[in-house]
Amino acid sequence: MPAPAIEWIAPAVVLRAQPVGDADVVAVLLCPTRGRIDAFGRGVRSSRKRFEGAALQPFNVVEAGVQPARKAGMPTLAGAVVRSALLGPSPSYPQLVAGSYLLEMAGQLCQPGHADPPLFRWTVAWIEACGRADEAALPALLAAAELGALSVAGMLVDLRRCARCGASLHAGAAWPAGADGLACHGCRPAGAPWLSAAVLAVLDAAARGAAVERVADLDAATWALVSDRARAQLHHALRGPLRAGMAVADTLRSPAAAPTLAAFAGSAGRSR
Ligand SMILES: [Zn+2]
Repeated sequence: MPAPAIEWIAPAVVLRAQPVGDADVVAVLLCPTRGRIDAFGRGVRSSRKRFEGAALQPFNVVEAGVQPARKAGMPTLAGAVVRSALLGPSPSYPQLVAGSYLLEMAGQLCQPGHADPPLFRWTVAWIEACGRADEAALPALLAAAELGALSVAGMLVDLRRCARCGASLHAGAAWPAGADGLACHGCRPAGAPWLSAAVLAVLDAAARGAAVERVADLDAATWALVSDRARAQLHHALRGPLRAGMAVADTLRSPAAAPTLAAFAGSAGRSR
């Protein structure tokens, strides 16, 4: 029986590349039309001809030749060529930490054989944004990306209607901790910080992936609140805690980089 034909898949983001033995690699790829692809690369680390340089590195966007598995088992990689690197040629450590967090999140949200172009676009857009951002902007970028991840997973709270009474939120809303959605002025629990209509518009744009450049429109304390609420929901969509979460907490969420929620309560009046 002839070997199954090689299919060239592009673009595909390398989510992971796990070395096996001296020369082989198990690569996990994310592609818009095929979802997650786990493939075995024989001789990847010894064949300069089939695998250009270090093509199979996390964050690379590649064109990959994949040969379907003959029986039960893993498809094999016949080759890989780099198209681009999402974080750029020489990311800083904070950029790597933020990018790793989003790459790991993408790996948990994607499914084998399940086309998910929005998840692919989310992965590329927000990791590229991390590669361009200053360290000080990374916590806000991650919070905006977390909102986008909720949207991609179909789990974002309704930013236009009160979750309790259905009233329009054109005048702004509260996003109370532990609530299953936003609250209008009448339904707002005492003390819940208020988000203005302008803030909600930025959150809506971030959720749709359309606001990478508007992230700076909100202050760090607002993004800290959004990240807190988004994470409380995101963990329902994820298969487990993100290993990179610890590095994010150590590197990007220092008191200097992300003011606490107590500070937010003090500034909430300004955004009303
Ligand atoms: Zn209400």
